[in-house]
Amino acid sequence: MFEGITFSASPLNRADRQRRDGAWLRARLDDPDSLFLPFLALKPLVNLDPAPALARLRAADLPVHPSEENAFLLGLDNDGHAVFALDLGNENNGGAALAEPMRKFIDARSIAPALPPGESGILAHGRSRIDWHARHRFCARCGHVTVPEAGGQHRRCQNPDCGAEHFPRTDPVVIMLVEDGEGRILLGRQAHFPDGNFSALAGFVDQGERIEEAVQREIREEAGIEVDNIRYIASQPWPFPSTLMIGCFATARSTALNIDTHELEQARWFTREEAAAMLAASRAEDDIAPHRLPPPLAIAHHLIRHWLEQNSGQEPCPS
Ligand SMILES: [Zn+2]
Repeated sequence: MFEGITFSASPLNRADRQRRDGAWLRARLDDPDSLFLPFLALKPLVNLDPAPALARLRAADLPVHPSEENAFLLGLDNDGHAVFALDLGNENNGGAALAEPMRKFIDARSIAPALPPGESGILAHGRSRIDWHARHRFCARCGHVTVPEAGGQHRRCQNPDCGAEHFPRTDPVVIMLVEDGEGRILLGRQAHFPDGNFSALAGFVDQGERIEEAVQREIREEAGIEVDNIRYIASQPWPFPSTLMIGCFATARSTALNIDTHELEQARWFTREEAAAMLAASRAEDDIAPHRLPPPLAIAHHLIRHWLEQNSGQEPCPS
């Protein structure tokens, strides 16, 4: 059930060997069969007709000349065509002219649920890659200019006395569903959530920390309880800007909560029936329901659905 989760399953071959060959890469940038996915202010260009899909343009149709500075190789498609994410910069650049009535630049979070399987994985890769390059133009070690290499797989400092390589970051976040052993799960809400919305607790994995330790620490810090029996369930790329959500289950040793109100506005235990009603409300985009879960875009939705199905002995919920 997690295989096709949003922002995953890019079908592209990332071409690790080929991309290290500078001549091959330059030939792909000049190849009339190469395909470019334009992003303007990190919004992908999307064809809306007949169904939403990322727009794939040829170099001749672009408002800028694609180069190693603005075009990052995402991989090769099934036909062997090179596919690049193309950074058109911010809203003030000429890229906006590519928009048409049935072809628009659309916020990634808004359009991702409407894209076919795999397409949102390409979108996540492209958005994270462009964002990382835009924020790493200078060497963190010496301050000199850096340039992309290997089709954007890394950047290299141009100071001959430094030459440091910098690699795109992915930040791990644990997101966990805590069970109390009596058929309830712990959910919380932050002050900025829409009214009535609850989700699984989550937090960044710290340096020098295992996934299991991060789960235990985050639950201890936010909810004031100890957990064990930590199980990895599934993961999801989250391209805002570049996070890997690591979904886990855990079992609480006790149920009396001590909430850190700096992190959470509220957290409490929910029964199976409550969780099932919240899941249905979030899927139906029911704004009237008193409590809701995150939409199917987010891994929290699928973790809760998985928990309900696992414990019900019933047929899986419809997608
Ligand atoms: Zn440097």
